[in-house]
Amino acid sequence: MSNSYSGQLVSYACNDTKSAGRRFEETHPTYRNEYQRDRDRIIHSAAFRRLEYKTQVFVNHEGDLFRTRLTHSLEVAQIARSIARELKLHEDLTEAIALAHDLGHTPFGHAGQTALNNCMKDFGGFEHNIQSLRVVDKLEQKYADFDGLNLSFETREGILKHCAINNAKNLGDVGERFLNKTQPSLEAQLTDYSDETAYNNHDIDDGIRYGLISIDDLLNIELFRMQYDIVNKQYPGLDNKKLVHEIIRRMINVMVVDLIDTSRQNINNANLNSIENVRNQKQKLMAFSEQMNEQKLQLKQFLRKNLYQHYRVHRMSKKAADVIEALFNAFMDDLKILPTEALEHCNTLKVKHGDIGIARGISDYIAGMTDRYAIVEYERIFNPRQLSFVNLHP
Ligand code: MG
Repeated sequence: MSNSYSGQLVSYACNDTKSAGRRFEETHPTYRNEYQRDRDRIIHSAAFRRLEYKTQVFVNHEGDLFRTRLTHSLEVAQIARSIARELKLHEDLTEAIALAHDLGHTPFGHAGQTALNNCMKDFGGFEHNIQSLRVVDKLEQKYADFDGLNLSFETREGILKHCAINNAKNLGDVGERFLNKTQPSLEAQLTDYSDETAYNNHDIDDGIRYGLISIDDLLNIELFRMQYDIVNKQYPGLDNKKLVHEIIRRMINVMVVDLIDTSRQNINNANLNSIENVRNQKQKLMAFSEQMNEQKLQLKQFLRKNLYQHYRVHRMSKKAADVIEALFNAFMDDLKILPTEALEHCNTLKVKHGDIGIARGISDYIAGMTDRYAIVEYERIFNPRQLSFVNLHP
């Protein structure tokens, strides 16, 4: 197969020539390996393009400089690839997982996900990891031979970071590890940590830019304080914009180096020879040091209290939840207000699953919306002034 770099990988990495395969068998790509093909399919998907207009923490239209789910996913891919290359794990696979990991997110970030999960509580609930898998397995409709993107098992496994045990039973091969308590590949593990590393750091940056948290507040946080002292000593009197960037880039680096060093030690201690050895470990081998875990916890608690629960963020979250709930209830009350394609999707699911299928179809439609599309759709349905025929079409 072309463009495999299996020769440069450690024996316990995911190997593109030994993939557990795709659900629908395909011929091998000509000049790419299987995980490159996965990544390329993800980049060309509609769900990936929509990430540009989905909230990470701040609603997309609040400012052009804030992270969106798209820029977040690119940052996760950057961090994950660096770690994979250093540990001689499969860089293409980590990139594919990183770019796909948030495809199932609702509009309006966590507020949207909580609201949709509440709406779906009598119909199996809503989990964004499962929804990401649903997007790549079923909802993208563009290939002649199969539903979804027909990604390889290793990419799908990495996308499904967590899921409830009850749901795992219905997810086939990728659900099994939650039932038999085995571990995912190291590529999947490191991408999960890259996600956390990316958002912990970029949320500080966005939070400062938005004026919700200040450098002074952050000086109580050890991870921030240590890098602040280093930068301040080397560049006294640096303007705030450069100061913040110089601190954050060092924080990302410190976390990545800690993750690589700690994980490499764990991997060496475990005497790995194959991917099966990785899967059969009692716990994940990718890990931060104890000290870093404590410092991260302090930072996360700070961000939760001062940023995610800030009244200005909470106001947006409340409005967002109201929009999601109102849309869901309106569609459940009268399916005929759904656009044709969404209605057909609901009717297809109804044949097999009855009312639960209808609710899942509506949830798929809402989860696929961007922030601005959800707001426009809300206006179209509830604003009596929006009566023109043009506005009734998506
Ligand atoms: Mg993420």
